[in-house]
Amino acid sequence: MKINILTLFPEMFTAITDSSILGRAKNKGILDINLINIRDFSNDKHNKADDTPFGGGPGMVMLADPIFGALNSIDAKGKKIMYMSPRGQVINQQKIEELAAQDEIVILCGHYEGVDQRVLDYWEMEEVSIGDYILTGGELPAMVLVDAVARFIPEVLGSGDSIADESIYSGLLECNQYTKPRQYEGMDVPEVLCNGNHKLIHLWQYENALELTKERRPDLFEAYLAKDKELTKDEKKILDKVVSKPL
Ligand code: SAM
Repeated sequence: MKINILTLFPEMFTAITDSSILGRAKNKGILDINLINIRDFSNDKHNKADDTPFGGGPGMVMLADPIFGALNSIDAKGKKIMYMSPRGQVINQQKIEELAAQDEIVILCGHYEGVDQRVLDYWEMEEVSIGDYILTGGELPAMVLVDAVARFIPEVLGSGDSIADESIYSGLLECNQYTKPRQYEGMDVPEVLCNGNHKLIHLWQYENALELTKERRPDLFEAYLAKDKELTKDEKKILDKVVSKPL
């Protein structure tokens, strides 16, 4: 998959492109992250990429022309273009899966007060937000988006199972995790996880995930109850127990 990122600060992206899982995916050629410095397309002798807003007000607005130049350089017309923006729909798992199914996407990172509206209109961009708060620029939101999309590309994580078990993907929050040592600061790992009985381990993990989801994310829990699922008799018993247990 190719992800083109238009930004005034390409150097920020080394945080995701040069390390860990995404770095490996890039090196293996599974993920091609193409960073485009918008300033390189400025026609101004000082490489200016922003100007004061029409109508007045504080701050600066990113100029249309350098962004048009950057988008033309990658033939972006017709491609899926996302503008990271607090005005957009907050991204969720469905959006991540939709984007991960594309061969190529384009992400525009705003800065200052945002970008000239004509950029968004002409290029038919979709505005997407990472949450109801304001960051200084679109680079961190773009990294969040890229990381979430990349994890959903087959081969990136190495094992498809690691996705299926994770919070949200499965419809439930993930159960509590423990590693060695078995006792730490007077706290024990739940006995059932150490006894090697895979059926009991699975049932404990299922119950724990149900309880956490019911308590922390009643919205997800309701959606989980409503969806079609194939449960064993034991799983069904556990689900009924958690449903009837008061919070
Ligand atoms: N004046 C803008 C507004 O009120 O909607 C906010 C501009 S913000 C300081 C600068 C840039 O950061 C935005 O253009 C956008 O690209 C990015 N940004 C800030 N918060 C974001 C969020 N929650 N999700 C996605 N992008 C965000």
